[in-house]
Amino acid sequence: MDVAVIGAGTMGSGIAQVCATAGHGVRLHDADPGQVERAAGSIRRSLDRFVAKDRMTGAEADAVVGRISPTGSIAEAVGPAEVVIETVVEKLDVKHEVFRQVLAAAPGDALLGTNTSQLSITRVGTVLGADASRLVGMHFFNPPVMMRLVELVCGLQTAESTVSRAVAFGEGLGKDTVVCRKDSPGFLTSRISAIVRLECLRMLEEGMASPADIDKALRLGLNFPMGPLELGDFNGLDTYLYALESLADAHGSRFRPTVGLRNLVAAGRLGRKTGWGIYRYDEDGTQVEVEP
Ligand code: NAD
Repeated sequence: MDVAVIGAGTMGSGIAQVCATAGHGVRLHDADPGQVERAAGSIRRSLDRFVAKDRMTGAEADAVVGRISPTGSIAEAVGPAEVVIETVVEKLDVKHEVFRQVLAAAPGDALLGTNTSQLSITRVGTVLGADASRLVGMHFFNPPVMMRLVELVCGLQTAESTVSRAVAFGEGLGKDTVVCRKDSPGFLTSRISAIVRLECLRMLEEGMASPADIDKALRLGLNFPMGPLELGDFNGLDTYLYALESLADAHGSRFRPTVGLRNLVAAGRLGRKTGWGIYRYDEDGTQVEVEP
């Protein structure tokens, strides 16, 4: 299949690799040409790790790289596309501009996916008119190469045939899919992970246990791969605060951010990226000390 991936950042580079590994031809485009080059480098390094672990031969890795072509414009990327995956920055106006260009240049029956983390699929699709029936949320997880799930999200106008095509496409990538039938902020996954992390923050602020013990309880007792508080630091507490605010707008006070979280963000304690969030980090990002 011909797949166009628009946006070659963290997610676009991984999604391009997943699609090419599944045997699809991928045309990769980014507004910043340097980003496509950086994506090519990160895909090569990722494939080299698979080869080093004997999970792929060198020839197979070369073939994956050979199936990915950089393109100079959205029109060039989507011209022959059977599937278009938009994964540009999480801004509605930017996604609208991309989909205007996609609509003008892609085949009239191409499957259109948006990798938004929490924007309304219906609102992303407003520039598509009746073609919004071909648009579906295709929510990959970071890193796309490792994470098994693709969460498919229906907008108000998404056709049932679009959902079936997206399920088949996702499974063809070797992923499992779930279908979120309602276009509701946070979908299934972001909504659940937000509420779990919020409850961890509430327990922390009530002084029930240290952050390390709260994280350990969820890792070892509930089989979470990473503690929710350390994950909050990893993704950025500011990002988490904005996500909670928009979930609270949509779903009410159960998502209202805690006073402690607001204070951390106001103080610039944003997590790993600032060297201090709930935990403290050294220059390499290694956790050095637990803050009460
Ligand atoms: P990123 O900032 O790493 O990459 C976004 C890329 O989009 C950049 O390279 C930028 O140059 C490019 N871009 C911006 N405007 C463009 C345009 N008009 N045309 C083409 N390219 C354009 O962001 P990311 O983390 O890869 O996120 C991309 C999307 O995936 C967002 O919608 C985000 O919410 C979603 N998402 C992110 C994660 C995550 O953990 N990072 C997980 C799931 C979904």
